[in-house]
Amino acid sequence: MALRLYNTMSSRIEEFHPLCDNEVRMYACGPTVYDYGHIGNFRTFIAVDLLHRFLRQSGYKIHHVMNITDVDDRIIRNAARDGVTVQQYTAKYEKAFLEDSVMIGIEQPTIVRATEHIREMAEFVAKLVEKGIAYRTEDGSYYFRIAKFPQYGKLSKKDFSGMQDGARVDVDEYDKDSARDFALWKAPKPGEASWDTVIGPGRPGWHLECSVMSMQELGESFDLHAGGEDLIFPHHENEIAQSESLTCKPFAHFWFHARFLLVEGEKMSKRLGNFFTLRDLVLKGHKPSSIRYLLTSVPYRNQLNFTFDGLKQAAVSVERLRNFRLRLTAGNFPAGANLAMQSLAAETVDRMRTALDDDLNTAQAQGAIFEMVRQANAAFDTGSIKQDDVPPLLSALQRFDEIFAVLDDDDGPKMKQVMEWAPTEGREKDISDELREAVRSNQLTDADIESKVAAMKAARASRDFKASDALRAKLADAGIIVEITKDGIRWRRK
Ligand code: AMP
Ligand code: ZN
Repeated sequence: MALRLYNTMSSRIEEFHPLCDNEVRMYACGPTVYDYGHIGNFRTFIAVDLLHRFLRQSGYKIHHVMNITDVDDRIIRNAARDGVTVQQYTAKYEKAFLEDSVMIGIEQPTIVRATEHIREMAEFVAKLVEKGIAYRTEDGSYYFRIAKFPQYGKLSKKDFSGMQDGARVDVDEYDKDSARDFALWKAPKPGEASWDTVIGPGRPGWHLECSVMSMQELGESFDLHAGGEDLIFPHHENEIAQSESLTCKPFAHFWFHARFLLVEGEKMSKRLGNFFTLRDLVLKGHKPSSIRYLLTSVPYRNQLNFTFDGLKQAAVSVERLRNFRLRLTAGNFPAGANLAMQSLAAETVDRMRTALDDDLNTAQAQGAIFEMVRQANAAFDTGSIKQDDVPPLLSALQRFDEIFAVLDDDDGPKMKQVMEWAPTEGREKDISDELREAVRSNQLTDADIESKVAAMKAARASRDFKASDALRAKLADAGIIVEITKDGIRWRRK
């Protein structure tokens, strides 16, 4: 079965096939680096990461590009306010974004930066002017004449037929109802950054950045363009208008939009005090894996309500999966195979694939793995898992984790890193006791613990109980409880 995805352009779920061969060319709008990334941003970025991982698991080659918007109205304004260059202003936030992405398990796509493509952007505007689609105003700015693109509104399904020709809007983000000629290029303002180019001095508009960089990297027509739902209008509508009026070819085939995230039932806003960056949550002691799990637990087109209760449950879910894997890898099983377990593993793989093929139904895929864990745990308790059942069960977990990426226990080192980042951001005081405790009891990864436990077993086998006790004490210091039972040694985190 092929992946079926919702396409905002057709407003329908369609079968997804790449335009060319077996390679998916996809572009996702990246962050505007004027602040730290919040969990809403990461809901969208993780949805795109999931899509990328699932396409790869489905056998496609992926060329995935993401831009970093390192010049726009807010950046220019803030840089001028702080008396620094645009690059100095954005460097810190770009670095933070890339660090956060690693922390939350996002595989890095090919990154392109707006400020590194200014020349190409100016040339693009020059071509639009040549075709009579763009025009220059007296101050040296350039606008896109939307009357020249009759399909304007086709993505957002807005009817702009009654709009006033020549009315202009020059900000990067604007009201949903404004169908106006939009700025492609803005003339310099005193005290603000600008670049000298073939069309004169100035700086690109935000929409232009994505058209130019996506086509440069992926070609004039490519498979999929992604972003949060707020980008449908005007950003993506404008990208389509600029690109298609220049090339006379369809720009992106599929339009993928993630629904906005709510926090405790409300729109996230600084004013309501429910605005959280990824770092804020880690500083409060929440694990990156719990955050990732929660952000993937609701399919990308459904409303996700982020709550602290949900975050706690997500932590329990991840723990349950990790413990199950540990049980499989550390246990001793009788020889042979239990056909029920073999088919459970195979069915689970099928159910996960069917769920994700269905417009990335992540909730159902997670449901499938938990059903497997429930049944296999029950089989454990009655001793009916056999040696040959372990590899297929592990492989189902592995397939799950190729997409969800929460099983590797690297939360401790990641959280420690956030503690170390914090002082440089002047936020030392915000480190919670919960984070300190989490870092303490997660300083060892599963692999570290496993190797110490293996050393304990070896020591006990040679009746060196002193060495075994010393290892056990070391583990206890790191917040790991070791239980020695007649079936062997088991451990868990405090
Ligand atoms: P920005 O840095 O504002 O350009 O946003 C980066 C990405 O995050 C874009 O794809 C936005 O659509 C997306 N985004 C912003 N806020 C939210 C939210 N509350 N929920 C989901 N996605 C969001
Ligand atoms: Zn974009």
